[in-house]
Amino acid sequence: MSERRLSEQELIERHFANRGPRRADVVLGIGDDAAVLRVPADSELVATVDAIVEGVHFLSTADAADVGYRALAVNLSDLAAMGAEPAWALLALILPAADDEWLAGFVRGFFELADRHGVALVGGDTNRGPRCISVQLNGFVPRGAHLTRSGAHAGDLLYVTGTLGDAAAGLLLERDGEGRDARGAEELRRRFLRPEPRVEEGCALRPLASAAIDVSDGLVLDAGRLSRASGVGIELELERLPMSTALRAAHGESAAHTFALSGGDDYELLFTVSPERAVDLARTSQGWSCGCTRIGRVVAEPGVRTRLYGREVPLTVSGFQHF
Ligand code: ADP
Ligand code: MG
Repeated sequence: MSERRLSEQELIERHFANRGPRRADVVLGIGDDAAVLRVPADSELVATVDAIVEGVHFLSTADAADVGYRALAVNLSDLAAMGAEPAWALLALILPAADDEWLAGFVRGFFELADRHGVALVGGDTNRGPRCISVQLNGFVPRGAHLTRSGAHAGDLLYVTGTLGDAAAGLLLERDGEGRDARGAEELRRRFLRPEPRVEEGCALRPLASAAIDVSDGLVLDAGRLSRASGVGIELELERLPMSTALRAAHGESAAHTFALSGGDDYELLFTVSPERAVDLARTSQGWSCGCTRIGRVVAEPGVRTRLYGREVPLTVSGFQHF
């Protein structure tokens, strides 16, 4: 066994083994050649993987704890959009050096969120190279109960959790530092650095939503994905877009709309509900601290269009770049 190999083992022992929640359904976790996991009877496994790359998805100056948090958060958001309950994570780490201090920060952020959602880290891989973190997250749904992007029908109502555009405004603050002292700036930065994946909300939507997607690349872009997958169109009602007081205060009403329509990294859930289910949704979502807003409807004619108080307005949205 080489020196480097030894230090990799130590690194795993120190930072990853025996950390985070213990789960009875982990037959074998970190330490063997692979993990062995027990999927509950009458359930289906839901699996997703997302990599975040330095300079693309996070700044090279980013705090390690924020990076660890984000690596798991983006995957939790994907499972939330499927209505799945998260359970087991695998972590592929590529790091320029075995930097003990950076790793300690990284796992602090990672396990903060893992603890909150009962996710066990059951394995991974560690290599040297340009910093890149890939998390595979597995969860489950009762058989046949998963949500998809493809179930929306003309006539359904369109909803979103939380508020839109905050994270994009927070990213600007992080990147440029401009307006950092403004009222609400701290809240916007937090929305970018510590997105709150809507896991409980996604699970609660299983019997209610006809389709769902998480908003990671901007409302218009992700609404377009949902509408294409479902073979329908979407009308967004601009006057209904949920925008925080912090976003409005920092950028004014009109610019706030642009953030809400095209800003990425919000990790809210965008979903459709048939009119017959709207009352059930209202009852269910009463318990959600993030809230939930109707922002439009599903129509037969393909494409995404925007209306302001009923009048169609042109949609000019540029593609979203995380950085
Ligand atoms: P192998 O060479 O058989 O892939 P490794 O030395 O890469 O073994 O990994 C040893 C054990 O440590 C495995 O159980 C693996 O899943 C786990 N592991 C390696 N890297 C990580 C990591 N970054 N996070 C969590 N577990 C890891
Ligand atoms: Mg390996």
